[in-house]
Amino acid sequence: MADNNRHGWLLKCTVCGMKWVLEVSFDIRDVKSIYHYCKTCKKNTFHEVLGRVENVNNNDE
Ligand SMILES: [Zn+2]
Repeated sequence: MADNNRHGWLLKCTVCGMKWVLEVSFDIRDVKSIYHYCKTCKKNTFHEVLGRVENVNNNDE
C-alpha cells in the first residue's frame, strides 16, 4: 500500500487538554474517545477525537 500522504487524527487528551496528532491510517472518525498514551501525562489516558488531519506537519510551531 503506497501512500505518500501522511494522514492523522487530531486528538485531545481529556486529562491535560493537550492536542496532538496521531498518525494512523485506519479510520477512527466514529470513535468518540480513544485510550492512548499521552506524552504530557506520561500515562494512558482517554482522548477526544477532534477530527482528521490530511497533511501531518510535525513543524507546525
Ligand atoms: Zn494528557
